[in-house]
This record gives sequence, structure tokens and C-alpha cells, in this order.
Amino acid sequence: MDTFCIHSRLDEISAEEEKSWFGGVVPPIYLSNGEKPTINPTRQALEQTLTCLDQSTQPTLTFASGLAAATSVCLTLLKKDDHAIIVDDAYSGTTNLFKTCLSRWSIQSSFINLSSSPLIITKYLLPNTRLVWLESPSNPSLRLVDIQIISSIVHNQNSSIIIVVDNTFASPLNQSPLSLGADICLASLTKYINGHTDVIGGCLSMNRKDLYEKFLASQTLFDMRLSPFDCYLVRRGLNTLALRMRQHIKNATHVAEFLERHPAIERVFYPALPSHPQYEIYKKQGGASGMCSYILAENTDVKQFLNSLKLCAVAVSLGGCETLVESPALMTHRSTLYEIETSAEMSEKLIRMSVGLENVRDIINDLNQALNQFEKTNDQIDWELIEEAKHVSRRFNAGGAAALRTTSGSIYSGIYFESSQALITICGEMSAISSMINDGHRDLVTIVILRGFDRFEIINPCEKCRILIKDLNSNAQMIVGTIDKPYQISINEV
Ligand code: PLP
Repeated sequence: MDTFCIHSRLDEISAEEEKSWFGGVVPPIYLSNGEKPTINPTRQALEQTLTCLDQSTQPTLTFASGLAAATSVCLTLLKKDDHAIIVDDAYSGTTNLFKTCLSRWSIQSSFINLSSSPLIITKYLLPNTRLVWLESPSNPSLRLVDIQIISSIVHNQNSSIIIVVDNTFASPLNQSPLSLGADICLASLTKYINGHTDVIGGCLSMNRKDLYEKFLASQTLFDMRLSPFDCYLVRRGLNTLALRMRQHIKNATHVAEFLERHPAIERVFYPALPSHPQYEIYKKQGGASGMCSYILAENTDVKQFLNSLKLCAVAVSLGGCETLVESPALMTHRSTLYEIETSAEMSEKLIRMSVGLENVRDIINDLNQALNQFEKTNDQIDWELIEEAKHVSRRFNAGGAAALRTTSGSIYSGIYFESSQALITICGEMSAISSMINDGHRDLVTIVILRGFDRFEIINPCEKCRILIKDLNSNAQMIVGTIDKPYQISINEV
């Protein structure tokens, strides 16, 4: 995949094509209209790369925007009195297309949540159902759907129903809808694929020749093609797609873990975290990127939070190098989602975040200062302590580490150990880094005290977890008992 991002394709470039590059190593921009305006070498170079990345057997087609690609799917495949099924938390533009536009042509749509139980779709499949529209992860609540299971349920019932997957959030690097049984893979090129927030475009990939021919014909009919200059820019952006996606995921994982621990955050949705409701789907299907969303705690104010951000820009796009934050209720999904959706994720306090490629410490520090106003503290994350804690965590094979120094000088630090039952967090006023190791028993967790301590607070322990405290210097140890609720232990000496 990394190589495909850079080389369009692995077969040899024809002598004729090479000649037209005038000795350059990248395809040049052809701006002039040829005899057939549908054929443009710059567009073809981009489409070839996308074909490789989406692993489609038919050539990928590009469009003037992601929504133009979506519109093309609907205008090409649907007709009066048809029925479509669409996930109920799709991108607002797609939802609007079905809800306000297609309904005027007597095309009915059912908006349903397919995340927890894919089988529910059988209740909505009608004799006139022509299209099933999936988006995974979804925008903005980051819900996942099991593409493989839904595709097989639908195709078993009626093989002529077309399954479309909007793959914009995951990118072809992190999810392959066609290999999971979807008929059409759609992406907004505007986002990760171009990656530089300076182009609007979309694409469709498919394995079925009949579908390809239909879309090729409708490209001429609707004329929603991507301009050669934009094709050139997207092709250029693709060179770094693999590199960018790896860093987006790394940064977003750090950010999501930080948010999960912050008291001003009620809930975080990031597919690669075990706390994600569809984590099991993520493990087999993928879907992580820089996109995450979270619900602010009750005592917060969304506008005040957004206005306090200094580095993270408040804006509606996503998938670029810069971190963008937005409120779906106030911005992107104002007109659609909150009328349809009633589930918990769709809180008015939901924040959608496109974690960019800045140094993750700067992103977290910015979020921290904006969130701390609601907690009435001015705590700063102490990155040196984090590094020290991480070092200890690696030694003991623990899950992770965090550290924080308050303005009053107290140090909070801890190592996270993921037991077989729950994530255990240790923090507290400690004058030393401590860590937890698993003694090999399912229910026994050991806290190793490296340099003495004042107080521990144990948050979210697993139900039957016994905590063993050990002092490495004196070798003394004690079991402090079974913990079943947020628990505070005060010990002066082991
Ligand atoms: N699909 C998803 C998931 C999106 O988030 C968006 C835009 O935000 C689109 C499609 C539409 O893409 P475009 O902005 O290129 O029209």
C-alpha cells in the first residue's frame, strides 16, 4: 500500500506515456481539453492510483466533490418509487440528499442504526429496496458497522441491492470495503486522500463492470468531473498518505487516551480504543484515523470550550494536516442529525475532532488548557514525567503511563495496566513514579513503589481485583483488599 500511494501502479509505464512526461518522474498536468473531454491523462494518473488503493477490479472514477460522487450514485441507480436504507448518523450532506432531495422524487429512505445489531436490517428490506448506504466510521459519532455481515445479509436476501460504503474517515489505508463485500466504495478526496485542505473532490471504486459503465456514462451526463489541476494536487497529496495516516492514528490515540482521563470529558469515541462500543468490529475491519469525538461533561459549555482553543482550529472540514475541532450540534449537523437521532452519542455536547499532524504535546496542551477552565485548575501535563513513567511502564510491560504536575506542585503520575477485566488507572499525589505489574494471576495486580509515596487513588478498578502493594527497596508487600468502586487508600508506610 505504501508503494501504491507513490507509484500509481506497479506495471511498466508505456514508452508513449513516458515520452509525454518529458523526462520528469511524476505525471505532468494536462489542462487542455482533448478530443474526448472525459479522457484526461492527469485525471487518469490519479484514478489509477486510487484503483490500486481501493483494490478494485474496475477503474476508479473521480468527481468534483465527495457529495458529487454521492449524488451521482443516487441519480444513476435510483428511480421513482425506489427505497433506500441509510445509516442514521451519516455525513449531514448525504443525509440531506436522501431526506430532502430524493424524497421529492418519491424515493423513500429508512434511516437506521446498524451498529449494535446488523440483523435489524432485514426488518427494513422491502421488495423495492435498491440501495443500502453505510458509513463506517460514521460522521460525527464514529460508530462502526460490520460491512461484511451486512453485505452478506443483504446480498443473500436480494443480490441486486447495491451496497455503498462511504470510506472517507478510514481512508483506503485502514479499511477496504470492496474486499468486505460492498459493491461501491465512495470517498471524499477532500479529506485524508488529498490531505492538505486545499482541494474538493470525490471518487467511486467498484468491482462490477456494469456499475462502472453506468457511472462512466453518467459522468458525461452530469459532468461532475474533477478538474485536472485538482487531480494533480490530489495525486501529489497521495504520495504521503501512508505516512500521514500512521501519524494521524498515533496522535489521535494519544489525544483520545488523554481525553478519556480528563474529568471535563464524559465519554470518548475512538475506534482503536477498547472503550469504543464497536471495538470488536474495529479489530477485524479497521477504521481508525485522526477522527475522534467526545462528549463534554455536564458542567462545561461547548461554545466556551471551542472559543478557548488556541492551536486547534474551530472549523468543519477534516482529514488535513491541521487539527480541527467542531460541534456537530452547532455546526455540521445542525440541520439533520438532531432531528433524526436520539441516541446517547448525539448529545448536544458532542465534539468532533480531526486530530492533525502537529506535535501531539501541543494538541493535548491546548485541549488541556481549554478543558481545565471547567475544572478550576491550571494543571499542566508534565512531559518529562510522562517519559519517565513510560520508561517504567515498558519495563513492566504495562499498558501506558501518564503524569501531571499541578500549579501547587503536586505530581500525579501513574502507569495503566489493562487487566483481563477492566482498565485500571492509578493516580494520586505521589512523590514517585509507581507502576503496576501483572503477577500472572487474572485477578491480582501489583503496584510497585519505586521511591515511596503519599497516597493512591484507584479509579475504575475491575470488580474482583486484588491490589498488592510492594516496596522494591524493602521488599515489603501487602494486599490491600478487593476493590469494587473508586477507592482511595491512604498508607504512610508499607
Ligand atoms: N462523506 C463524509 C463522511 C464526509 O465527512 C463528507 C464531508 O464532510 C463527505 C462525504 C462529502 O465530501 P465533500 O466535502 O468532498 O463533498
